[in-house]
Order: sequence, then structure tokens, then C-alpha cells
Amino acid sequence: MRGAFLYGPRDLRFEERAAPTIIAPTDAIVRISVTCVCGSDLWPYRGLQASPEPTPMGHEYCGIVEEIGSGVRTVRAGQFVIGSFFASDNTCPHCHAGYHTSCQHREFVGGAQAPLLRVPLADGTLVATPEVPAGELNPSLLALSDVMGTGWFAAEAANVKPGATVAVVGDGAVGLLGVLSAKLKGAERIIAMSHHEARQRLAREFGATDIVTERADEGVARIKDMTNGIGVDSVLECVGTQESMMQAIRSTRPGGSVGYVGVPHGVELNGEELFFSHVHLHGGPAPVRRYLPKLIEQVWDRKINPGKVFDLTLPLEKVAEGYRAMDERRAIKTLLRP
Ligand SMILES: [Zn+2]
Ligand SMILES: [Zn+2]
Repeated sequence: MRGAFLYGPRDLRFEERAAPTIIAPTDAIVRISVTCVCGSDLWPYRGLQASPEPTPMGHEYCGIVEEIGSGVRTVRAGQFVIGSFFASDNTCPHCHAGYHTSCQHREFVGGAQAPLLRVPLADGTLVATPEVPAGELNPSLLALSDVMGTGWFAAEAANVKPGATVAVVGDGAVGLLGVLSAKLKGAERIIAMSHHEARQRLAREFGATDIVTERADEGVARIKDMTNGIGVDSVLECVGTQESMMQAIRSTRPGGSVGYVGVPHGVELNGEELFFSHVHLHGGPAPVRRYLPKLIEQVWDRKINPGKVFDLTLPLEKVAEGYRAMDERRAIKTLLRP
């Protein structure tokens, strides 16, 4: 089979590699129905987080179970399943606390931009849909594998409450679905920070009531203006840069919360500023697995349509173009069909 490999900065190749096989008895092999490019794939693509060896890419997936190991008990061949980018056993103390991405046995799931994928700890990691879905649900089910669960975690970590005023920093797929999550949690005012027109439109569709185009300190000043100098109750930080993190913290009112889900790149916080800000910080790699059952139900019942973030669909063999389009911000998120 052929799959996506990153060789170096902006050097993505679709190349032959061995099909995955069962290694541990708790593994499953999934035949990918749809996969996609993640905003976090762009960090190594742009040369940050360089790896000395060609890396198989992709960590967002859904599809049909093709084969299971001898120790797999609840997942069966033929089921349509969705899993997170971290495999988890769903039984250890951290999983029980809802922090599956800190599972004592967690394992990164990589190489999903390919027709077949090995998923470790299949029973704990994979959640099956009630039946094999009609194809039109696939984009929304795929979004649950990372971006929707991550947006939801951002809203939860930011303690979004009914009636709250919320700001969302970042207009990528996660930020946009953070807007949707804040809306689902009953936020009254949702300020999307974006200077990109197509993304602003989608943000409004997902429930944004206001758009702020300014960034950094001007963005903070704008938020303060809009809230009588107070700041917002909750901020969802969905980028991971020094600028976005400070924008999030400084836009939050004393006693408010920042949920940060952008993978930090060079972020450093000043203890003294943090101390006097009175802001709650909570974030990290989203425990997507915790939210899968509930979010699958909502997609299944057609209550939410997070798949709208995919504005470019390509055959998997065109994966390199999918990265280019996102890198150049021509696409919000690329869906790939094997
Ligand atoms: Zn991702
Ligand atoms: Zn665990």
C-alpha cells in the first residue's frame, strides 16, 4: 500500500510501505474510510519539530475494522470505528479520571494517511458507531477523531457556562469547533478572533456573535473595549504560540479561565504576570476518547455537523496538495479519501 511520509520541510511524499500487521494481541487493523490533515501536522511540515527519519503522517481516522488481535474483546471485524490520536486502555486511573491522553499505557497512533492503520489497545481506544454509517456522515465522524473533541475539551477546560462571554483565539478547525462547543454549552456571547473571511463566516455559522480581527495586544484591547474593560469569562486558546497564549490570558477577566489546546511552540509564561492575573489555566492534549460516545451520538442524530470544517476533499494520493493548501491557508482542513 501507499501512505504519506514527511521527509523534511515541505517535502511530503506518497510512497509505498508495508501494510500494518497485528503486533500485540490487543491491536486492531482498521481500513480507513476517510482521513485528513491536521493543523498540528503543519508544524513538522514547516520544519518545526524536525525528525531525522521520514515519518509516516496522519493521526485522525475512522473506518472499518479489518482484523483484530487474539486479546481484543469488544471490538469486532466489520464495525465502523473512530479512535483518538493517542491509544488508551480506558481502564487505568488516568482514564477513569477522564484523561485518556495521559493513560499509563498511552501510545501515539501515527500513519493514518494511508489505506490501513494499526491501532493499539483497540478495546480501550476505538468506539464503534451503532451501524456502518451512510457516507455523508463520514466527515463529521472523522472530525470527532481530533478537532471536535479538542474544541470541546478547550470549552470544558475554559469552564464555559450557560450565559457566559467567551473568546476563541485561533480560526483553524479546532478554533471553529471551539466556537461550536461554546455554543452547545450555552455561551451567550462568543467572540471569534479571526482575520480570514471564509473562517469568519463558518465561525458565525457555528455560533459566533462577534468577530475581532485584531491580534496580540490590539486584540486584547478590543476584547476589553467590548466588555467594559472587564475581559471575558472564558478563552479557548487554539494556536499554541507565545502571542496567542498571552492574548488568551490577557483577554480573560480575573477569576476567568483559559482552556489551551494549541500544542505550545516556544511558549513561556511569566510567573509574576500569571500570579496577578487571577486566571485559571487548564489544557493539554485533549482526552478525545472521553467525549467520543456522546459526540458520536450527536453526529448520529444529526444534531451537530462538525464535518463542515473540511473545505477541501482530495483523493489520498493527492495528500501533498492537501498539506500545501492548508499551509498556504487556501483550505481550513483537507479531507482525504483512500
Ligand atoms: Zn490532529
Ligand atoms: Zn489508561
